[in-house]
Amino acid sequence: MSTVTLTGVCPECETDLTVPPVTRGETLSCPECILTLRVEAVEDGRLTLEMIEVQLRDWGQ
Ligand SMILES: [Zn+2]
Repeated sequence: MSTVTLTGVCPECETDLTVPPVTRGETLSCPECILTLRVEAVEDGRLTLEMIEVQLRDWGQ
C-alpha cells in the first residue's frame, strides 16, 4: 500500500501505461506515440484516457 500507481491504455497505440497517481482532468503523454492524453476517469486504479486533439496550426493572432 505504499507505492500507488495507476494503469491505463493509450487509445491510440494501445500501449499499457503505468503512471503515478493522477486525477481526472490531468494530462499525460504517451511515451510511444507522444500523444497528449487526458484523464477522463479514474476507476479502481484504471485510467480512462482520451486523446487530445492538439492544435498544431498557428492561427497567427
Ligand atoms: Zn500511445
